[in-house]
Amino acid sequence: MIDPWSTVSLDYEKYIEQFGIKLFKEMVGELEDPHWLMRRGIIFGHRDFGRIVKAIREKKDFAVVTGMMPSGKMHIGHKMVVDQLVWYDKHGADIHIPIADLESYSARGIDFDQSRQLAIEEYITNYIALGLDFKKDNVNVYLQSKNIVVEDLAYLLAKRVNFNEMKAIYGFNGSTNIAHMYAPLIQVADILHPQLEKYGGPKPTVVPVGPDQDPHIRLTRDIADRFKNQFNFVAPSSTYHRFITGLTGGKMSSSQPKTAIFLSDSPEEAEKKVKTAKTGGRESLQEQKELGGVPEQCVIYEMLLYHLMDSDEKLTEIYTNCKNGTLMCGECKNITAELMKKFFEDFSKKREKAKKLAENILDGESTW
Ligand code: SF4
Repeated sequence: MIDPWSTVSLDYEKYIEQFGIKLFKEMVGELEDPHWLMRRGIIFGHRDFGRIVKAIREKKDFAVVTGMMPSGKMHIGHKMVVDQLVWYDKHGADIHIPIADLESYSARGIDFDQSRQLAIEEYITNYIALGLDFKKDNVNVYLQSKNIVVEDLAYLLAKRVNFNEMKAIYGFNGSTNIAHMYAPLIQVADILHPQLEKYGGPKPTVVPVGPDQDPHIRLTRDIADRFKNQFNFVAPSSTYHRFITGLTGGKMSSSQPKTAIFLSDSPEEAEKKVKTAKTGGRESLQEQKELGGVPEQCVIYEMLLYHLMDSDEKLTEIYTNCKNGTLMCGECKNITAELMKKFFEDFSKKREKAKKLAENILDGESTW
């Protein structure tokens, strides 16, 4: 069967079966203009996304929350979350973007000044260049260490969470520092605070995450339920997206530069990196002609699928030609490298403009 939306496979079904996540494809038909990440199954799972669909259809209030932990450079895989934010913005969401400087400090030892700088120069700059408008009233970005409402809410919520629970979820032990143990509670408050009266009261809220974050979503939903009487929280919804594969075939990671295309790369660097990426091609041209390639295991194909090719028809054509052995990897890499170069030519100009704007987005001075 032709399935041009399948990619380098990780065992995503496991998450769906084990944790009761629902398949996102059931939701796609409910949306008028699903984002291509939704249409193509890159967003593969959800919890309670029906509430968000309903809010979009009925033009009711809803929120989206997605944090950024300033710890390093953003790579092209991180772009996926920003693409989703831009889509949600178009559909009327209140957008909340916590910058997890408290977590960065407690879990990675990054000090507050450094977090703030990283957030401005790397994250906020890229978010603006990718199309998110921080000047709009519905777009809220904040440093956790500066948000007293979130900090107070976290403290209040922490009253009904005990150490054994945190140990079971996060593997904390007797030598974990207390700040690190507390950081997840701050994140729970990040997710629930848009539902406080101060921000318009209870409303559907969606958190787009990778499947590894699901334990955290489950904890937040449990805590929302524990405080239902007090705040009338609506349990947050979530969506789950696939990870992007690294250039060498494993996970793309900022800490392993050989695996990643960084959003700060020059167009030439990005183009060159595409040409070194692992393909799903055969050993020889002859074999490729006879057997066809394996786009499901091809990093090049994944780049087209996730980021570079907005036309479903053209993508299907590449998939089909790869499978039937009429498209060779050399040509395919050249097409992809050219698209990547074009993307970066445009994007690096936008990044340059965004740098100045990004400096004025965060409120308040650094405390330390
Ligand atoms: Fe990948 Fe393209 Fe080669 Fe197919 S032809 S395996 S999609 S690089």
